[in-house]
Amino acid sequence: TLPNLPVLSAIASHAPTKTAIIHNSSKKSFAYGSLLKDIARWRSVLSKITSSAGTGKRIAIMGENSYEFVSCLLAAVSLPETIAVPLCPSHTAPEITYQLNDADCCAVVATARFKEKLTPLVGEREFVIVEDVVLPASEEVTVEEDTTGIVNTSGIILYTSGTSGNPKGVVIPNATLTAQSLSLIKAWEIKETDTLLHTLPLHHIHGILNALLVPLFVGATVLFQFPFAAGPVLSLLAHENESDPIITIYTAVPTVYSRLSTLFRTFSPEKQAEVSAAVSKNLKLAMCGSAALPDPLREGWAELSGGHPQLLERYGMTEVGMALSQPLKEEERSSGSVGKPLPGVYARLVDKDTLEVLYESVGWESEKWYAPKPTSADDQLLGEIELSGPTIFREYWRKEKATEESFVTDASGRKWFRTGDIAGVDNAGRWWIKGRESMDIIKSGGEKISALEIEREILSLEGILECAVVGLPSLEWGQSVATVIVMAAGHPPIEFADLKAQLKLRLTGYKLPKELKIIESIPRNQMGKVNKKTLVKQVWPEKF
Ligand code: ATP
Ligand code: MG
Repeated sequence: TLPNLPVLSAIASHAPTKTAIIHNSSKKSFAYGSLLKDIARWRSVLSKITSSAGTGKRIAIMGENSYEFVSCLLAAVSLPETIAVPLCPSHTAPEITYQLNDADCCAVVATARFKEKLTPLVGEREFVIVEDVVLPASEEVTVEEDTTGIVNTSGIILYTSGTSGNPKGVVIPNATLTAQSLSLIKAWEIKETDTLLHTLPLHHIHGILNALLVPLFVGATVLFQFPFAAGPVLSLLAHENESDPIITIYTAVPTVYSRLSTLFRTFSPEKQAEVSAAVSKNLKLAMCGSAALPDPLREGWAELSGGHPQLLERYGMTEVGMALSQPLKEEERSSGSVGKPLPGVYARLVDKDTLEVLYESVGWESEKWYAPKPTSADDQLLGEIELSGPTIFREYWRKEKATEESFVTDASGRKWFRTGDIAGVDNAGRWWIKGRESMDIIKSGGEKISALEIEREILSLEGILECAVVGLPSLEWGQSVATVIVMAAGHPPIEFADLKAQLKLRLTGYKLPKELKIIESIPRNQMGKVNKKTLVKQVWPEKF
């Protein structure tokens, strides 16, 4: 018997013959019935390790996105006081060592492909290679009726993307993962009949929550294409092979949509028409998040999908799962906005200087204006996003001070997580992400300028592939706006005067960049995000 963990009860309730997971590489598929059994079998293997390791154990897991990875992960989180720590297969030795030590893992489970890489790093820890394990014979598996402490004492640790500093371990108990999943299922109407194409890393919230737990909860099918490559993804989305399942849901990060569009544009007009028609017909929901979505990428996707489905943008982070989302109904979306709080999510906008609460909204329930309501969509209230409710993480792993500093308690005793992200709320209660307080909000001559807003405009100009807008220290202005640009292949470098002349038509004077550097490429981490603190030091070493 398995403990009554909501995700396991859900898996047990689906038809045992229904396909849970497909590996696109081998076309092998695995049904819910065998998934439940293999979770139980892995549980008995892992419990032998953890029972000798005392209380409160962390098990690191590294594997390609696969059925085996999912079975091990769900087995680990179903053990008492056990926390699974998914590791990134492409991380370097120092990054892996940092996480193994930081999370204080007692065991490492990995697929054979990573044996060589991990052998020098595991140290004294128990090292389990998935392929070497003879799983115990499978028996009938049932799920217990009463809930044990496992809902709150076990779960996962995910590391933040490390965009603004060292990655922090975020403790997400099973109960929180469940609340996060149920909120998304309700908002995005994910159904048993759906098939989701999964090309995301499993050591980030986007890949584990949106693209894995959510479909498993409802009994949908997850098709793993690992590693991501634009060719196979377009082929699956366009349903080029009759024997593949029809993909109804896809979720990815902006960089991925950029690669898909780039490939799509190399197709002949006939093939483009075929792909667009198939995507339009089959795909129900295409989602994007983890970083801001520039207009040219949204337009690239519109071309690829023949206008439907439009990309649904949402805002989330490791600490909170997903928090804000555009509505499911396409005609109600406002492009560039990330919509409103998801069901169960408490969100409020707080003035950074006065700490005054300007606006508060409970997902799908209520909203309250503390500051005067804006009179138009452009006239937005500006502040930091603070979040609360059952979907918010518990703590940073062994970082008491960081945990304490990231929460504030209001007069009613409710704890709010300070995201560090700045947003605007418009007259319809829609949220617009302006960027991180620490990297994207440029304070120049008494104005607060959103780097994301300027980036959006620069990216819509002809010949520009990538850009990052930053604040440089300035005696005169405090900070001054500067931009780093990567030109698209075959385009000569843009002249600074020309850039300013074009931007003048779209942005007010104080938002115009005062400096421009053209470089070959902008360094990004695995989720496609730019660490601007590192970037500015590389590009303008003399200023820091
Ligand atoms: P670290 O906390 O280590 O600096 P990180 O914040 O990048 O890394 P994640 O938790 O993966 O790690 O990312 C969350 C952040 O991603 C958010 O705080 C926000 O700044 C950004 N983000 C997420 N979704 C969006 C979106 N739709 N638009 C703009 N930014 C977004
Ligand atoms: Mg963060």
